[in-house]
Amino acid sequence: MNHVHTFAGGWFDRQGERRADAQWVQGQRDSLKARFLPLSNLRALMRTAPEFTIAWQDRLSVDPYLEAGAMAVLLGLADGVPYFALDVSAGEGPAFADRGRFIDVRSCAMQGQARDAAVLSQARSLIDWHARHRFCAACGRPTEPRDAGYMRQCGNDGCKAQHFPRTDPVTIMLVFDAAGNVLLGRSHRFVANTYSALAGFVEPGENIEEAVRREVHEETGIVCGRVRYHSSQPWPFPSSLMIGCYADAETSEIRLDGAELEDARWFTRAEIAAMVEAWNDESRLRMPPPLSIAHQLAKGWLRGDLSD
Ligand SMILES: [Zn+2]
Repeated sequence: MNHVHTFAGGWFDRQGERRADAQWVQGQRDSLKARFLPLSNLRALMRTAPEFTIAWQDRLSVDPYLEAGAMAVLLGLADGVPYFALDVSAGEGPAFADRGRFIDVRSCAMQGQARDAAVLSQARSLIDWHARHRFCAACGRPTEPRDAGYMRQCGNDGCKAQHFPRTDPVTIMLVFDAAGNVLLGRSHRFVANTYSALAGFVEPGENIEEAVRREVHEETGIVCGRVRYHSSQPWPFPSSLMIGCYADAETSEIRLDGAELEDARWFTRAEIAAMVEAWNDESRLRMPPPLSIAHQLAKGWLRGDLSD
């Protein structure tokens, strides 16, 4: 099975071997072929007509930002063209009002093409990481970007610690009972009538299966046995990797912990089918939208994924 969810499926060659070469990176950045995706406060510059797509800018349009030292991260190369994400939040250059609109990445993914969503997820996570890691976690001094934006190094000669962009693993799971009912929960934060797969961060010293069992037990009191991996999804808010699993319940009585979930219930197969279908109808019980892995895990199950 090969599930490529929204925010995955990047089409760049990330140039992992060459991006540590500062001179090579500079050459790519200065090239007149280079294309830049401006982000302002993590919103991406999008063209809304004739089609909804990333408003790539050429180097000359963004020169004032580059000269002012705006953060530029190499996304990668495609057909010999270098692509960068550029943080224009500080606004040291011309505005982009005539080139498009700055739109939050989740909305972009809802409206745009999968091809763009993969780029936006890489760009948003990296630009956000730089904004949050200006200072060294070891000694507190300022850090400097290196490796085309894939590392920051502490500027303190006595420290020189290297910091790398993080990805935080989150398990997200559909839990089944022996009769084929599905356990879903509802958080206080969810929009009306929505139930979704249970989810939680993997903790240090835990594997995926253990994290799934712990989270399900903490949130609902249900004990799980077998856990199977289904598929994964980058989730750039700010930098999670959603690890989708199917888990078999060994108990059925729900006991809510009260803190995270407002409700949790077992749903029949027919109910799940209706909730997947109704994702956009706020008057009905529904699951989250198709761009979420929760929606795709349910759809996959209805289709018979991992049905051994
Ligand atoms: Zn340091």
